[in-house]
Parts: sequence; structure tokens; C-alpha cells
Amino acid sequence: MLYPVPRTAAIPRIALRAAALAVGAIVLVTAPLLGVVRQKWAGSANAQSAAKPASTQAASRLPNELGRIPILEWHQVVDADGTYKVSRERFKGELAELHARGYVPISLAQLLDKQIDLPSGKSPVLFTFDDASPSQFRYIERNGALVVDPTSAVGILLDFIKSHPDWKPRGLFCALPAAAAGHAFFGEKGIDGQKSAWRFPKVKFLAEQGFELCNHTLWHAKLNKYSDAVVQEQLARGAMAIDSAVPGYRVRGLALPYGLWPKNRGLAVSGAWTDPKSKRVVRYAHDAVFEVAGGPARSPFDPQFNPRSLPRVPLQGGTKLTPTLDAMDKPGPMTRYISDGNPKVVARP
Ligand SMILES: [Zn+2]
Repeated sequence: MLYPVPRTAAIPRIALRAAALAVGAIVLVTAPLLGVVRQKWAGSANAQSAAKPASTQAASRLPNELGRIPILEWHQVVDADGTYKVSRERFKGELAELHARGYVPISLAQLLDKQIDLPSGKSPVLFTFDDASPSQFRYIERNGALVVDPTSAVGILLDFIKSHPDWKPRGLFCALPAAAAGHAFFGEKGIDGQKSAWRFPKVKFLAEQGFELCNHTLWHAKLNKYSDAVVQEQLARGAMAIDSAVPGYRVRGLALPYGLWPKNRGLAVSGAWTDPKSKRVVRYAHDAVFEVAGGPARSPFDPQFNPRSLPRVPLQGGTKLTPTLDAMDKPGPMTRYISDGNPKVVARP
């Protein structure tokens, strides 16, 4: 759950930081013993693939590029499952299950631009990470050098990719530049040991790796509650903050906080806000708008594909991945996208 700052949209960032520190002081995060956790992950991954029923491994791999694509949605990756939380062990298991079942992570750009270039028989999956908590991306200092904490989601994912080289760093981080309680670009100073100076380097690192950055408003604002002006300020400043970290970055996606649309739905897609100080007009335009739920998304080659309302598959607490993947292996409207290996031809069933 989030701790949005209950103030008006015009609050200066300094005040937001002060509020973040105040709330952050009561947030306790347990640092697990790295070695023990890593050992457990390795064990669970092996157990997972060994226990996988042959029927799912040998799912029909006839090409179908009109099939569904799961857009997975994670929030915090922590010690144990809960609301908006999955355990690290579970997260690792979900990556292993996806890999074993022939899924390959793609980028939002590949989805939107219809450039899904996968080997024959493979299926695309889009990863999304909401809320920018340190559990997703934590730096630790080791012998004077800054390294990605291998127990944070980014660390787990990058380690997985290293040992599964057919996967590349792909996925979308829907960040909150100015939220309180450690959710401002993956943590603030004093929260979970994360330093303020690491915020922009983290965002930059993600973009350099091949991950993508996505708007999630400034501090998780419920967009249905606000005037058109505040909605546009939230979205323009959200995109502007990403631009501050990665100059010139084109923000193509917006994840609606709580899946709530602004009263004027078009403002989720595009709008403008004038900075009262500089009088500069900041425009934003999102090619994709993500809902919080709704099941596997349509293929971009499906005539009913609507990037302005993309359903997602949330993973948290008791909401598990396997039932969705099982449903996508059955014939019917939810059957999965399977590549024919030729990006120039759209394979139809
Ligand atoms: Zn969120």
C-alpha cells in the first residue's frame, strides 16, 4: 500500500521530501541474509522446474500471433506474500515458470510498434513494476562500490537473465517521482538505507539496461478526484521528473493509480501543464494506458487491440501466476500468443 502525501498538487518537492522522511521513519524494512536467501532461491527454482507437469511443458506451440499477451504487474518484492507484495522466492519462481513455459519478456515499445521478434514457439510477456519502492531497486555499497542489491527485484531479474541468456532486460517501471515513504524513485535518504543522490542514477541505470520508464503520476494521485488542471499537472510533472533523470526520454506509458481514470478520460492520454514559475508549457502524450487488472491483453495484431486501455495481470498475495498461464494454454479467447519466428508475417491460427 502507498502513503500518498495528502496535499495539493502545487506542493514544492522539498515539502514532499520532508513528509517522506517523517513517514519513512516509521517504516521498517528487514534486510535478509543474502547468502541464505540466494541458496533458497536456487533450490526453489530447481524444485519448480522439476515439479512442472509435462502437459504444460509440451503445450501446443502452433503459431498464433493473434493470441493473448500477459502484462504482469508486480508491486513490492519482499520477505513474504501480502497485499501488493510477493516474496522474493515467489518472484524468482514466477520468472522460472515463465521461462519454462516458453515466455520471453518484451518491451512496451515492441508491443506498441508491433515489433515482437521472438523465436518460433515462444510467447511474449510484458513485465510492469509499479510504485518504485526500494524493494524493486536497492543499491548497496560493497567495498566502496555501488552495486544492485541482489535481493531487490531488479537484482533478482538481472541475475535470472544472466543465467538465462535468451532473456534480455525488458520491462516497465512505473515510477512515482515524489511520493512519500520510500516510493520516490526507489527510495529516499534514510529510508531502507537508500540515499537521495541515488534516485536519478537508478532511473538512468534502468533505461541503460533496456528497461523502460512509465508514468504513474507524481505521488499515486487518485485521478478521478481531481480537476483537469491537477490531473495534467500530475501527469506532466511525472513525465518531467523522468526526463530530469534521463534527459530526452520519451515516456510512452501511464499506469493509472488504482486503475482510476480522470473524469476527462482523454487527459490520461495527453495534456499540458504550464509551470507557474518558468511559464514553460510541459506536454505529455502516452501511447499506452495501463489498467490495474483485467487479464491477459490482446495482441497488437488483433483488430480490437486498444493500447489506451491495456488490461494487466496483478500478482500479489493469493493472486498467483499459474492459473492465468494455465488458462492461456487452453484453446479459446484467452489462448496465448505464440510466435512463428518471422516478424514479417502475422501467423493466424
Ligand atoms: Zn501504484
